[in-house]
Amino acid sequence: MYRPDHYAIHEYLPKSEYTRLGSTNRAWRKMDERILIIDDCVRKVIGVPAYCNTYGLSKLPSFLPHHRTESGLRVVGCKYYSPDSMHSFGRASDTVSEFIAPVQMIRTFIQLALETDTFDGFGTIGIEVGVNWFHKDLRNQKPNFLDRFYLFKKSGVITQDDLNYYEKLFLK
Ligand SMILES: [Zn+2]
Repeated sequence: MYRPDHYAIHEYLPKSEYTRLGSTNRAWRKMDERILIIDDCVRKVIGVPAYCNTYGLSKLPSFLPHHRTESGLRVVGCKYYSPDSMHSFGRASDTVSEFIAPVQMIRTFIQLALETDTFDGFGTIGIEVGVNWFHKDLRNQKPNFLDRFYLFKKSGVITQDDLNYYEKLFLK
């Protein structure tokens, strides 16, 4: 069982689940530990605060327009619940920081993955592009990027031109 140094359980559970489970082992086991390890490792390297859900904070971080409530696990009843999203299985999270852009978080993550063995054996890791947060997920899918990642975007298909563009952007 992995418990992150830098993230609390309410950052991964929607309010309903946090209310039901608190910060028990049953709550933590809802999340795939690989996601927690990725978030914690990236957070350690960037060295500045980052958030998943923020509703558990006493004060809204000033860079956010509203609290983030469904950035980790999503269950039936959540506004953005989708049966096919990796968020529905505790295998995805969306993190943000006021001090570092999502692209820089992705760069940090990719660099860690390529240059260390920290995430070896994690399988294909999905990364969403074109959004204002760092989405990462674990998926049973053939990678399309650097042999171990799967880049995707909400609207439309990722083209080879996209992949070339992101390779330059993320490996900078
Ligand atoms: Zn996401």
